[in-house]
This record gives sequence, C-alpha cells and structure tokens, in this order.
Amino acid sequence: MKLKLIIYLYLVMLLLSCKEQKSIVNLQKKSPNIILIVTDDLGYQDVGFNGSTDIQTPYLDEIANNGVKFTNAYVTYAVCGPSRAGLITGRYQDRFGFSRNPLFTPKDSLSGLPLSEQTMAEALKIADYKTMAIGKWHLGAHASQRPLNRGFDEFFGFLSGGHKYFPEEYTLNDISEVKSQFDAYNTKLLKNDRRVEETEYLTDALSREAVNFIDRNKDNPFFMYLAYNAPHAPLQATEKYLSRYPNIKDNKRKTYAAMVSAVDDGVGEILKTLRNLNIEENTLIVFLSDNGGALQHSANNGKLRAGKSSLYEGGIRVPFAMQWKGAIPAGKVYEHPIISLDIFATAVSIAQVKPKNELDGKNLLPFLEEGNIEKPHDSLFWKKVDAGSYAIRYGDLKLIQEKDGTQKLFNLSEDVSEKFNINETIQMKNLEEAFKAWDEDNIPPAFLGLLQDKEYTELNPDRYDDVEEY
Ligand code: CA
Repeated sequence: MKLKLIIYLYLVMLLLSCKEQKSIVNLQKKSPNIILIVTDDLGYQDVGFNGSTDIQTPYLDEIANNGVKFTNAYVTYAVCGPSRAGLITGRYQDRFGFSRNPLFTPKDSLSGLPLSEQTMAEALKIADYKTMAIGKWHLGAHASQRPLNRGFDEFFGFLSGGHKYFPEEYTLNDISEVKSQFDAYNTKLLKNDRRVEETEYLTDALSREAVNFIDRNKDNPFFMYLAYNAPHAPLQATEKYLSRYPNIKDNKRKTYAAMVSAVDDGVGEILKTLRNLNIEENTLIVFLSDNGGALQHSANNGKLRAGKSSLYEGGIRVPFAMQWKGAIPAGKVYEHPIISLDIFATAVSIAQVKPKNELDGKNLLPFLEEGNIEKPHDSLFWKKVDAGSYAIRYGDLKLIQEKDGTQKLFNLSEDVSEKFNINETIQMKNLEEAFKAWDEDNIPPAFLGLLQDKEYTELNPDRYDDVEEY
C-alpha cells in the first residue's frame, strides 16, 4: 500500500514537473529579468491593492493588476534581518542560525549570513545574470558578508538595518566613524565599495539607481534586489510627497503615507523604463514587505491582529504582488498561503539553475496556472528564539505559542483577526508536534542580536575600534 502511494506520488511529481517545464519553455524567449522589490515595515493595508483608503499607490496596484495579488502571503519572521535572510536564501533562516536581527558589527564575520548559504544573486550568477543590490542590506556588515561578496556585481545603499533619509544627515564619512549601533543610520551611502556624496532624498536616490541599472542591462538578463528602507523609521519625507496628503491630519500618518508614495513613484519609474526599453514582458517583478507594519509608526495592517515583531498575522502577513506579462495571469487573486521563501524557488526555476542547498520554498508559477487546485504548502512555521514563542499555519488553522507558554488556536478562514481561541486540544497537540518535527532541522542562533546590544558590546569592547574603511 505504502509502495503504491510512493509510486503514485512520484508519478504525480513527474507529471507536474514536466508540465511546469513545458510551460516555462514555451514562455521563455530568453532568461527573464527578475526584479525583487522589498519595502520595510509596510502595513498590510497600506497599498491600494489591499484596500488602503488614505494612501494612493497606483503603480504598486499596477503590478497587482498586471499579475497576481496574494492575499495570504507571509514572510519568515516579524522583523527585518531574519526575514531578509529567509528571502535571499529561500530557506528558513533558523536552518542556519540567523534567528536574530543582526547588530551593526563590521568586525564580526559571524554576525550575518553564513557563507555556507547561497544567495539568490549567487544562484542567478550561474545563469549569467547581472546582479545588483540597492538599498538596505542588513545581512552582515563584515567585509566577507557585504553584497559584492554575496553574488552582487553592484551595490548602492547601506549595510545597516536602517538609515536616515535626508542627505544632510549623512554626517559620518565611513563606518570607521560609527561609535554606536544607530550611528550607522548617519553614514554616507556606498556605491560598490566607495562612499558617495548623495544629494537626493534617499528613496528617490534608490529609485534613480534602479532605473539606471535597468537601462544599462537591457540587453542581458539581470536580477535587481531593490530593498527600499521606506517606510521604516525615522519617519522623514519631502514636501513633494507630503503635499499629496492634505487630508491626513495626523502628522505621523501623513509622513508615513508620503514615504509610501515615494516608493510608489519609484516603482512607476521602473515600470515606465521597462516599457520604454520593451523588456516588460521579459521581466518578472515581485513586490512585498519584509514584515508587517509597525503600529507605533502609524502603519495600518487592516483587520490583521498586531504588527511588526508579532507572530500574529499583523507581524508576518504582508502585501505581496507579482507580475510577468504574458507568462502569469493578469488580475488574479491567489488566496492559498505562500511565503517569501517561494521567490528564490521561483527565480531559480525560471533561470533553470540548480540551487546549492535544499530549498524550503516552492516555485509558484505552476500553482498560478488555471485549474491548478494544489496548494504550495501544507504548513508554514515561525520561531522567535529569544521570546520562546512560535507559530504554525496548517490549512486555515494557526497555532501560536506565546512566550509564557500558553497556546492559542485560530481558524483564519472565519477569524482572520485571531480573536477567538478555538482551543481544540487534539489539533493543538498535533500542530505542536509538527512544529517540533520542523524545528529538529534548525540550529541555535549563530550570533547575538539587536536585543543583546549591551551584552555584545560588553563582550566586544573594541567593537567599533580600528574598523577598516569602506
Ligand atoms: Ca522591516
């Protein structure tokens, strides 16, 4: 019986993979470009395509309208660093000890993405993609972990977990002048391995570099990882964008809205550039936020409970849209759970590259085809090591274990706001077992994180001394 089942599953998998390859080959004139656009701490309902009523995002909405909007899209962690580590490797970050938000530690080779991991850029280099990372890095500040050493041909941005937006505040010439964790927000920007004098508002500068990269690479396949730090704090915007929101009276919300508009304008420029160069139909664009909106900075996660740093839906379910004209359906709404890990799996599949490590994500393209009722994932997992909490989503059920050890079970199909603990003991036990089985493949955190800033500095009193330039 078991053997029959295995043979059956094997045949189904074979059939699916043939189908997938066929459709990709049909679609693929040449290796498609891949643009991955990430926003930082953007609320679930802070985009037009998820129903924002006060913030206008016409260009982000275009991506959703030209392609697919995912309503149950997750990231692998509720704050920046670990979420990005999952995104850029296609693997749950707990597999390789990236379970904490990294500190800014330019002398520490362990505090960041381990070299045993393959980044999406490193994988796509195998297929001769030109690669560029723009914006926030936050995957390690040590020389060995910087973008140019992690598969990117080019970099424009900053290495830390955040940055100021107005160039007059970039007062530190280099990281050798950084003397505390948040000093790194004030460094001059990096262009590859050189510091540059920037004059534009940060979000506009990142968009400018993105358009420039596309222009220069119109004749070859490229991968662009565009990681806007907006609308992450500090809340700072220019009059150009603030003036669009005369009706928002709350100053924080108004500034936040303006920051989102700056991103949206940048995305508009990118779409226009792709069209002008006649490469839009050969370009896959994915847009998402790295975690849920930070409520204290006036983000709006809609009906979702809580926000950034929480394992409730508001912390981990994010705005997510994808377009690839002519290759994936237009105007589709996809409701089965997906996760940011799927982007890597999708990218290597369309570039026909075999990844170095075992991936946790799935190629999403076959699931978007008309009539495919299969779901990409049975279960999704989240773990907060220092809090001792975790969550698992299985179908519509979601179990959360809080840091005090109490467990709650929700049925998201009836209760997306996670208000009613349905408390079914047997289901809870089963999900706990599933989490434990998943957790067996994980390793302990490989470095101290933002929550251990003081402890790290005590252990490494020379943390900022004699840091090499660049
Ligand atoms: Ca973030």
